Amino acid sequence: MLKQKNMRGGGTDMSTSVLKIIENVVKNNGEKKAVKASFGELTYSQLWKQSDNLAAWLSLRLKDNKKPIMVYGHKSPQMIVCFLACVKSGRAYCPVDISMPKDRIEEIAIALDNELILALEPLTIENHEIVSASAIELICSTEREIADLNPVSGDDVYYIIFTSGSTGRPKGVEITENNLRNFVEWSMNLAGKTGLEHITFMNQAPFSFDLSVMDLYTSLATGGTLVCLEKSLQSDMGAMFETMKKSDINCWVSTPSFAEMCLSDYNFKQDLMPELRLFLFCGEKLTKDTVIKLSQRFPKAKIVNTYGPTESTVAVTAIEVDEKVLSNNENVPIGKPKDGTRLFIRDGEILISGNTVGKGYYKNIEKTSEAFVEIEDEEGTKIRAYKTGDKGYFDGENYFCTGRKDFQVKLHGYRIELGDIEENLIICPDVEQAVVLPKTDGEKIKSLTAFVKRSNEGITAKLIKTALKEKLPVYMIPKNIKFIENMPITANGKIDRKKLEAEFI
Ligand code: AMP
Repeated sequence: MLKQKNMRGGGTDMSTSVLKIIENVVKNNGEKKAVKASFGELTYSQLWKQSDNLAAWLSLRLKDNKKPIMVYGHKSPQMIVCFLACVKSGRAYCPVDISMPKDRIEEIAIALDNELILALEPLTIENHEIVSASAIELICSTEREIADLNPVSGDDVYYIIFTSGSTGRPKGVEITENNLRNFVEWSMNLAGKTGLEHITFMNQAPFSFDLSVMDLYTSLATGGTLVCLEKSLQSDMGAMFETMKKSDINCWVSTPSFAEMCLSDYNFKQDLMPELRLFLFCGEKLTKDTVIKLSQRFPKAKIVNTYGPTESTVAVTAIEVDEKVLSNNENVPIGKPKDGTRLFIRDGEILISGNTVGKGYYKNIEKTSEAFVEIEDEEGTKIRAYKTGDKGYFDGENYFCTGRKDFQVKLHGYRIELGDIEENLIICPDVEQAVVLPKTDGEKIKSLTAFVKRSNEGITAKLIKTALKEKLPVYMIPKNIKFIENMPITANGKIDRKKLEAEFI
């Protein structure tokens, strides 16, 4: 077993740590399945032992290099081994999914500035040592014990998740061990709504999205089993439903968009998952329509709407959306903040303070100081808060999120800065100006349209999309590209987005 300094106490009191909580699970449930995916599964003791071995190897190999480590891949159980190994060895990890194009992976690698990358899928990056899946397997199965491992704890950064940035470069959100522990202690209570001792959690989001932290760590901390739905399964509804059917899923964790996609198939109902007791949603607006459909199809399951940004560790508010909540409100509320978190509405914007607000953006002082600010609470006490950019209000009972103040959008559950796409469009050959606008159906964004002024008639929508795919993940490529002669301009000389919207959408 890993010898850990700085690992204090037991139970889930303030002196414990995420690793300690998981270690307690391992002690009592070693033979239980921790994670299942199409290509492999691991018990708790395998997960723990393998991550011990890899942690020891990382420490010997990297010595004083404590820089964060990129973990590249998709949903193999080995990803989780790598995450735990990094933090056991005292280094933060940065999950990067295969949906990222090469250019973006390189940008992240350069930002992290660590020559070593753990890659469970094929990857080459100049000037980096890529530890491949087969090498990782060998390291994990080789017994190695090391006395002075000093795991990530307290205010050390536990993970870094990169999100879309308005300047065309992704921003790395730093979440500390304290942040994660405070989140997990709350999310364990949410999972308690299943009323079950052993919970099988569904994992939909790739590990590079913070929504996955909700299912992964709540599952590990409660001794549950995580069932991963890989990308290939998610694009084949029949095969995915088959997996759902045989997995005895109790707790569903996804974006509302993903559940809506499933609802388009009539087979998506309680018969498919007789043991499903709880839907946990986060990441975007949950509509009444979706809640009504789900409660009709899954009469045994509760539906919980949670809200929060990556910058404040997945989610900070929650509400169980039952019939009463539906009939009392025109829109689905986001509920009340968890213990240890306060929400403020300033100039119509939601600000979050408390014990899950992250450290900031990795090596980006400017963006950090713009978004993580000092405010005064009602008593005039100065506190640190994260400016979400979300518009919201409090109705005396619950908080509501009503949209964005800026050009950040959610499309099919993905967080996208329109500026990120625009900046990457402008660097495409023969593109002079570009504006990206969302197309909505009233409630949600359905697709993106790029308006492009080109300098050469020969440049086609197809060529632009091909060039963009080198720079951006597929979900960020605008569905439509429309060429225009001249951008409409407002009186103060800015591009007139409203006019574009009115004329073209
Ligand atoms: P992400 O960092 O990807 O989790 O995205 C965070 C953003 O998603 C928030 O700032 C909101 O704009 C949006 N969001 C998250 N949860 C909800 C929710 N329950 N209702 C409405 N919007 C949400």
